Amino acid sequence: MATIAENLQRVTDRISQACSRFGRSADSVTLLAVSKTFPGVTVREAFAAGQRRFGENYVQEGVAKVAELADLRDQLEWHLIGPLQSNKTRVVAETFDWVHTVDRLKVAERLNEQRPIDLPPLQVCIQVNTSGEDSKHGIPPSEALPLAQAVRSLPRLRLRGVMALPAPSADPRAQAEQLSRVRAVFDSLTAAGIPLDTLSMGMSQDLEEAIAQGSTLVRVGTALFGER
Ligand SMILES: *Cc1c(COP(=O)(O)O)cnc(C)c1O
Repeated sequence: MATIAENLQRVTDRISQACSRFGRSADSVTLLAVSKTFPGVTVREAFAAGQRRFGENYVQEGVAKVAELADLRDQLEWHLIGPLQSNKTRVVAETFDWVHTVDRLKVAERLNEQRPIDLPPLQVCIQVNTSGEDSKHGIPPSEALPLAQAVRSLPRLRLRGVMALPAPSADPRAQAEQLSRVRAVFDSLTAAGIPLDTLSMGMSQDLEEAIAQGSTLVRVGTALFGER
């Protein structure tokens, strides 16, 4: 079995090859290591191999892992990439550096109120749903601009971009179409004058396609840590 260091090298190579293939600079894409369901020791192993940014899906699990790795807190960046209910915002505002899944103003307002004053503003992305009714999370593209404008006015949040979790498709053209719709939302917000630098899309299976469509941050679990 490959070590985490070997997997990290492989994923980094995939990212840089995709960047060169699609005419992008290798440093235009950030790797977020998705450590959900894996224990703290696994995060330490990835840290030892040079990885610094980690994504967690479940609030409780993420909070416990951040606490377990408190000795590395200053060197790690923790991202919440899973759904966030409004009754869990306080611990998230106190624990994470980033939240990718803001899809309601109420959640944004609570995070803003609850972000401790001694921490930097919480970095956030708006989650958009471009796949229609079948996905319960994320706002439809037509509602992205008003939400982005409202989030921008909250001083303890910093709006960084757009996140999406397109339903996986075996058909590469359908997959590309999904990803390009997310990119279109990102472009429409920046065209409306909202400065954004993060397009969070792409996972183990589709990171090349996501990079082709403009992703700046790929969220990779399985290809680094193995099957969950
Ligand atoms: C689990 C998860 C990932 C990582 O998926 P892999 O296929 O394991 O790379 C990325 N983003 C989100 C939101 C996830 O829940």
